[in-house]
Amino acid sequence: MARYTDAVCKLCRREGMKLFLKGERCYTSRCAIERRNYPPGMHGNRRMRRKVSDYGRQLREKQKVRRIYGVYERQFRRYFRQALKTKGLTGATLLQLLERRLDNVVYRMGLASSRAQARQLVTHGHITVNGHKVDIASYSVRPGDVIQVAENSRNKTYFKDLSEQLGAHTPPRWLSVEPAALSATVTDLPARDDIDIPINEQLIVEYYSR
Ligand code: SF4
Repeated sequence: MARYTDAVCKLCRREGMKLFLKGERCYTSRCAIERRNYPPGMHGNRRMRRKVSDYGRQLREKQKVRRIYGVYERQFRRYFRQALKTKGLTGATLLQLLERRLDNVVYRMGLASSRAQARQLVTHGHITVNGHKVDIASYSVRPGDVIQVAENSRNKTYFKDLSEQLGAHTPPRWLSVEPAALSATVTDLPARDDIDIPINEQLIVEYYSR
């Protein structure tokens, strides 16, 4: 599958907001949004002054969420179709489905500083769910699942000092983290209020309902 290989900071500049794609760097003055908060390209500054249509706003909102979670269009559409079939508010369900991805859970529990890094930890086989190795980043967790660093990965340099870091990290309400065991239990499904992303998901619903 094709992967986005260009500078990810351009994606934030295109959306005009921090998407937190680069881990630690996003919290420093080296963040591209802090220095050049206008779209990339020669006429980026001019593009900011253009009037945005309803379609444009819906499209941008969809792109933001897709980029935050690192999901390609086809997969994103699949999540949307699944959300449509599920009882409840489609937009909130869509966000919940994305939040339940294993790579996102690894990021939320504090094992990685970005979702991209978390995805790498998963695909490289460092993560187990209920004691079984799972290397599928899109794996959807359920309440009761225990996510943990694989036994034979725990002595790797990266994970050695991580328990202290996990102790200082604040996980979301629906995850109970045990820093010493490098593990987390999913205690509930994430609700809309648990998802701290400044997004108007209704615009995404409108985008796909055109
Ligand atoms: Fe986005 Fe992070 Fe790059 Fe800032 S440093 S532009 S938040 S990816």
